[in-house]
Amino acid sequence: MVLEAGVKPYLHTLFSEPCLDKSGKLVGVIVDGKSGRGVIRAKYFVDATGDGDLCYRMCFETYESPRRQPPTTCVYLEGWDSERFHDLLKAHRHEFNIPEGYAWGAKIPGTEIYMLAGTRIYGVNCADINDLTKAEIEGRRQIRAMMDLVRKYGGDYKMGLVSLPATVAIRETRHVKCQYQISDEDAMTGRLFHDAIANGSYRLDTHHQDKPGLTFKYLDGTEVYERTGYPREIGRWRDVTPVNPTFYQVPLRALIPQNSTNVIIAGRMLDASEIAFSGIRVMVNMNQTGEAAGVAAYLALHKNISVSELSSEDVRQTLTKGGSIII
Ligand SMILES: Cc1cc2nc3c(=O)[nH]c(=O)nc-3n(C[C@H](O)[C@H](O)[C@H](O)COP(=O)(O)OP(=O)(O)OC[C@H]3O[C@@H](n4cnc5c(N)ncnc54)[C@H](O)[C@@H]3O)c2cc1C
Repeated sequence: MVLEAGVKPYLHTLFSEPCLDKSGKLVGVIVDGKSGRGVIRAKYFVDATGDGDLCYRMCFETYESPRRQPPTTCVYLEGWDSERFHDLLKAHRHEFNIPEGYAWGAKIPGTEIYMLAGTRIYGVNCADINDLTKAEIEGRRQIRAMMDLVRKYGGDYKMGLVSLPATVAIRETRHVKCQYQISDEDAMTGRLFHDAIANGSYRLDTHHQDKPGLTFKYLDGTEVYERTGYPREIGRWRDVTPVNPTFYQVPLRALIPQNSTNVIIAGRMLDASEIAFSGIRVMVNMNQTGEAAGVAAYLALHKNISVSELSSEDVRQTLTKGGSIII
């Protein structure tokens, strides 16, 4: 699809530094890759690095949540048996120094292979190279420890490691201060925005940094604390109401960094407070921010205007023409 659209991809290429003209305007990005160092020049840029690397190095204001969601190394396994695995883990995880986190997984459709997202690496900031290195090593150590634990105590239960992913999976690092920060209340009450470019219905889902497990907050006011191997704790974060919102929205302003003329963001570095981010961060929502950022960059280029001058109605109409559901 990328090639069919006439886009020139650069694989195995990392953004390193912004390239500014004398007036301080971003005119290119310095990249490092197999052929060494180079510059990709452009008029408009979309920062989709997850960590907001471009915005950070442009010295745009960024911030981090004090309880940033921890990363996880996933794994493909064969011979998965949820009950036996979790019983063994609960009984012996201390011996193998496996921290208690939250385990989620599913069979890969059409196969007997199980994808487990079951490690948890606490206290690391994956936008920092030292912490990212530590997280990469620790995530793999935890997988190895799980395999060793099953080998030692599993008896006739055999679990095989099929493959590891190329990198640790990162839930959250920096956020970029934008024209608007989506507040927890905005998401929890399903606030509608005049410049909405994305709609999400995934429950608010906080993987805890300061305790095991995760907390789901549903738009109907239900709250569920889940900790693998323990009963669910079900409560409410607000009283019962006759009508509940069924979705929340992402406004275009949460993708336009403050003081930016030609940089837009897409993805998990968007401007959202802690609980709002916990639901908005999922793929179906991030895809919508990517599409909106691309359309916004196209319109700004076409009209030769700053991204701060964009008409959100133009962006919404163009998205609608492209088949997006814009409410
Ligand atoms: C363990 C785990 C389980 C999850 N489970 C689910 C789930 O079940 N369902 C769901 O919908 N969501 C899930 N999520 C959330 C969701 O996957 C992420 O929030 C989402 O993928 C973030 O998308 P993104 O494009 O913003 O960031 P990322 O997916 O992190 O993509 C950023 C990309 O930028 C690249 N990059 C970074 N820095 C640079 C640079 N300097 N130069 C060039 N490239 C760079 C990275 O290599 C990466 O490819 C999960 C997340 C994690 C970590």
